Amino acid sequence: YEAKQNGLRYCIYDDQLAQKVRDESKLSERFRVALANQELTVHLQPQIDLQTGNCVGAEVLCRWFDEELGSVPPDVFIAIATKQGVLTELGYQVLEKTCALIRKWRERYAFVPVVSVNIGAQQFASLEVVDEFVKISEHLPAQAITFEITESDLMLDPQQALAVTERLRNYGFQLAIDDFGTGYSSLAYLQQFNVDILKIDMSFVQAMTLDEQSKNLVATIIAMARTLNLSTIAEGIETAEQAKLLKDLGCQQGQGYYFARPLSAAEFEQQWLHD
Ligand code: C2E
Ligand code: MG
Ligand code: MG
Ligand code: MG
Repeated sequence: YEAKQNGLRYCIYDDQLAQKVRDESKLSERFRVALANQELTVHLQPQIDLQTGNCVGAEVLCRWFDEELGSVPPDVFIAIATKQGVLTELGYQVLEKTCALIRKWRERYAFVPVVSVNIGAQQFASLEVVDEFVKISEHLPAQAITFEITESDLMLDPQQALAVTERLRNYGFQLAIDDFGTGYSSLAYLQQFNVDILKIDMSFVQAMTLDEQSKNLVATIIAMARTLNLSTIAEGIETAEQAKLLKDLGCQQGQGYYFARPLSAAEFEQQWLHD
């Protein structure tokens, strides 16, 4: 009867819950070790000038491959790192690896694309993070690096975000708002944050060739960016049609599987850099 049924159901649920907790704590423990051993790597996705087709930038995307668990997606391990309070440490490791690559490229290649590094809200809890970025990137011109911050992360604590973005800009780093259109920033904030680039979220890019309204929305974002003197990068371009439409609307750059997937550093060098 009722009580017993509930009791039984509760038992099953409890069991699944226990398994879930075990999986999560395993993942969390493996991640702790991977970070301590500096096992995370970085991949690079080309950012293409839509007018010329040239690669003018590259976004750094963190990767974690675990012997037992296989490759764990960044959305999962970034959440773990955030929960463990170590996103700042992860960010330093990513920037160190990135700067090592840029240094190597500057010695070897005639043209080196601007490199974009993602940072999350937890990383700008303190202003000293910016000074550490400067230390890690020493001897490199700040303009060689762009930091990407998602619109929703910027809006978590706009006052703090404002202080950090100002400091980053004072050092000469470029700033991009990532996943633009999915958060809730106001035009007033957009102007205050003083960023250089808007990255149009892939949900709009992928919808724009399917419905007129999304197309108009993207056109409006690009026009607004132009008014504010910002350049635009469209994310998640998967078809020639999307690339063409974005170019015609005046979007400067694009990235997505249509041009290239995120690549290992070796693949990126081989395919996209030349003497
Ligand atoms: P994001 O910064 O918006 O990066 C774009 C994501 O879209 C990447 O997923 C990329 O692989 C994927 N992508 C690129 N082109 C296409 C396409 O044409 N179609 C589709 N469907 N997807 C495409 P990824 O590598 O899984 O990264 C997910 C998110 O994890 C990133 O979103 C970023 O927010 C975060 N992330 C990655 N690396 C780092 C890092 O080093 N630090 C921080 N704080 N966050 C990171
Ligand atoms: Mg990004
Ligand atoms: Mg994005
Ligand atoms: Mg994203």
